[in-house]
Amino acid sequence: MVIVMKHHASAEEIGRVVARIQELGFKAHLSSGEERTIIGIIGDERGLELDNFLMFDGVERAMRVLHPFKLASRDFHPEDTVIRINGIVVGSKSIPIIAGPCSIESRAQLMESAHAVKEAGAKMLRGGAFKPRTSPYSFQGMGLKGLELLREAREVYGLPTVTEVMSPGDVPLVEQYADVLQVGARNMQNFALLNAVGETQAPVLLKRGMMSTIEELVMAAEYILSKGNPRVMLCERGIRTYETMTRNTFDVNAIPVLKSLTHLPVIADPSHGTGKWELVTPIARSAVAAGADGLIIEVHPNPAQALSDGAQSLKPEKFAELVIQVRKIAEALGRTI
Ligand code: PEP
Ligand code: MN
Repeated sequence: MVIVMKHHASAEEIGRVVARIQELGFKAHLSSGEERTIIGIIGDERGLELDNFLMFDGVERAMRVLHPFKLASRDFHPEDTVIRINGIVVGSKSIPIIAGPCSIESRAQLMESAHAVKEAGAKMLRGGAFKPRTSPYSFQGMGLKGLELLREAREVYGLPTVTEVMSPGDVPLVEQYADVLQVGARNMQNFALLNAVGETQAPVLLKRGMMSTIEELVMAAEYILSKGNPRVMLCERGIRTYETMTRNTFDVNAIPVLKSLTHLPVIADPSHGTGKWELVTPIARSAVAAGADGLIIEVHPNPAQALSDGAQSLKPEKFAELVIQVRKIAEALGRTI
């Protein structure tokens, strides 16, 4: 249930409602926007009557929330969440592009990638050190050495970094080396991992599971938020369908659906969403047109030699073209890249 306070409700009026919520055995979650304060009631609210709150001074209305997620819901938090990552702003007018290799493979490969993506206009650097591979015989990532290289690239190029964390025990380590913790598609419902990243204050890029519904994605975000970390970005990265022409089916619908259901920034990943480098730019354009707040793109100096995801990785010059094209779409919508 959410209680919407009147425009000029006083701190005392808000305090009385909160006290009543706590008296009834629930937790109150306050969202103080520019316009008004909204109080969310957290707990099993069956049996709780709207009328309990309508008679309080300063209350405009009380309503039931139809969705199972609360903290992630726009009903609870009408304004867009804005996340600041070392000078980069996600969730507002500008649409930052995160780019870099699927996996960190060597110092030369990472530095070359970082240089190229920065030149082309990327605002953050991606690169996996712990890789979730379908086969145990495939390259598993450089681990700690990869994290060290990522930190070095951040120092040299001044780009905040995004990297995947695969297990709860690695969260403190990865947090020391990178700016954004990525929870990969295969781990979207690893609840121990969601809780562990939720206990930090690090920004989290939460990728949609390849067989997960939009609601399941938002419920996964709810785990992180409910542990006290509000800095969650949702990522549409394609889902599995009967289609075999592409690696995944990029669900462009998810972007406006997520934007209306939640207040969290939505990032689009057309690299995993298509699996084919030729499709990455057109689908990046569509994602920006649909309202994405950011893009994450795989770029490799030599995709043919990549140790993972070469087929969907852009060469630096193709990435530079992508940036030019999506910038035009962003500008048409009154946004910037
Ligand atoms: C990745 O970003 O390289 C990755 C493994 O992504 P996903 O979890 O979306 O497959
Ligand atoms: Mn990849």
